[in-house]
Amino acid sequence: EASQLANEMDIQVYLVGGIVRDLVLRVKNQDMDFVVAGDGISFGNRLAERLGGRIRVHERFNTGVIILPGDDFRIDVASSRNEYYDHPGALPNVSPGSIKRDLYRRDFSINAMAVSLNTFELIDYFGGVQDIRDKKIRVLHNLSFIEDPTRIFRAVRFEQRYSFQIGEQTIKLLRSARDLDLIQHISGHRIYEELRHMFLEQEPAKHMARLFELDLMRSIHPALGYDQKTMKLVESMEDLLVVSDFLRLEDVRRDALYCALILRTIKAEQIMALPILQELPQRDREIIAFGCSKAGMLLHELGRTGKLWQKLRLVKRHEEEVLLLAIVYGNQQASAHFLREYLRSYRTIHPILRGDELMALGVPRGHQVGDALLMLTAYIIGRDANRPDRREEENFV
Ligand code: ATP
Repeated sequence: EASQLANEMDIQVYLVGGIVRDLVLRVKNQDMDFVVAGDGISFGNRLAERLGGRIRVHERFNTGVIILPGDDFRIDVASSRNEYYDHPGALPNVSPGSIKRDLYRRDFSINAMAVSLNTFELIDYFGGVQDIRDKKIRVLHNLSFIEDPTRIFRAVRFEQRYSFQIGEQTIKLLRSARDLDLIQHISGHRIYEELRHMFLEQEPAKHMARLFELDLMRSIHPALGYDQKTMKLVESMEDLLVVSDFLRLEDVRRDALYCALILRTIKAEQIMALPILQELPQRDREIIAFGCSKAGMLLHELGRTGKLWQKLRLVKRHEEEVLLLAIVYGNQQASAHFLREYLRSYRTIHPILRGDELMALGVPRGHQVGDALLMLTAYIIGRDANRPDRREEENFV
C-alpha cells in the first residue's frame, strides 16, 4: 500500500532505521519508520486512511504516527529535513542527497540503511550490510558519541542484543567520550530511557555485564564499579522473570527491579536524588531506592515467623516487586521458597466468607477481621497442600 501510494503521489518514500536492519538480519520487528522526501504529513494522512488506521500528527516536527486498529504494529512517518526548512510556498527542494543526509544523522551503520519504496532498492551508503555480516557496531563519524552521548548506551544495547562487537575505532571513541564525562550533560531522563530499553531486552544481564565491563555504570553513580554479587542477583532476577507468565506478573516494573539491584549498594536518599530517576513515577523511585532493603527485612521477618497466616500478613504489606527482590536475595532459603509459592498460588486463594460476614458472625471489628481472613486462607492452603492431586504441581516454578 505504502509503495503504491508513494508512486501515485509521485514522491520518494523510504523505509529506514531499525526495520531495515532487522530485515537484513531476518529478525522480527514491529515498528516501521518511513522517511518522506517532501510532505510527510500528507503522505501519512493518506496512508492512514487507506490502511483504516488513525494518525497522530506532530506538526512541530513534521512527523506522524499511524496506529492500526487492534494491532501492536506502528508506523512512524517523518519528512527528510532539508525540505522542511524551505520557505513557505516554495516547491520542495528534493535533492537526491536528502536521504543520505537523513541517514548520516543516525547512530550506527547498521541503523543507517534504507529501502526505497519507489524502486525497492536497498540504500546503504555507510556499509551497514557489511557490518551486519561482520557483526560490528560502527558509528558513522568520529564525533558521533560527542554529538549524542546516549549512543554510548545504544551501542552496548545493539551489540549485546545481536551478539555483535563494537568496532575497534568505535570502542576507542566510546571510551574517550566516557572519559570526557559527556554523559553528565544529557538529561537524566534520556539516560534512564536508554537503560530501561536495556532492562527490557531479552537477556538484560548480558547488557548489564557489558556496562560494568566498559565502566559505564559510574555514569549512573560514581561508586558503581564491577560487582560480582550484583551481577549474580541480576542473573537470578532474569531467570525468575522468565517464568513471570506462570506467576502472573505482567504488571511488575521490570526496569525498576533491575535498577534497584544495580543501585543496591547506594544509600536510599542518594538514590532518590539521582537525576536519572527524577521523572519516574514516585512508586518506581521508591522501589528502586528502598526495594532491596525492604526485601532484606522481609526475609528476616519471615524467618522469624512460624505461622502461615502471620507470614501471609507480612507478605501482603509489600509490593510484588519487593517480593521478587526478596526471592533473588533469599536464593535457596525457605523464606524465598515460601514467596515463590505465594506468588504462584497462595495469593489467588480467598476464603468464601468475606469480612462483613465474619463481623456478622461476631468477629470483633478491627484487625481481628483481617487476621481471621488470613487464618482461613492459611487453613485452605494447608488443606489443599495435603490433597494428593496437588502434590505434582508443587515444584512447578
Ligand atoms: P529497536 O529495535 O530497539 O526499536 P530501533 O533501531 O528501531 O531499535 P529506535 O530507538 O526506535 O531503535 O530508533 C529508530 C532509528 O532512529 C534507529 O534505527 C536509528 O537510525 C535512529 N536513531 C535513534 N536514536 C538515535 C540516536 N540517539 N542517534 C542517532 N540516530 C538514532
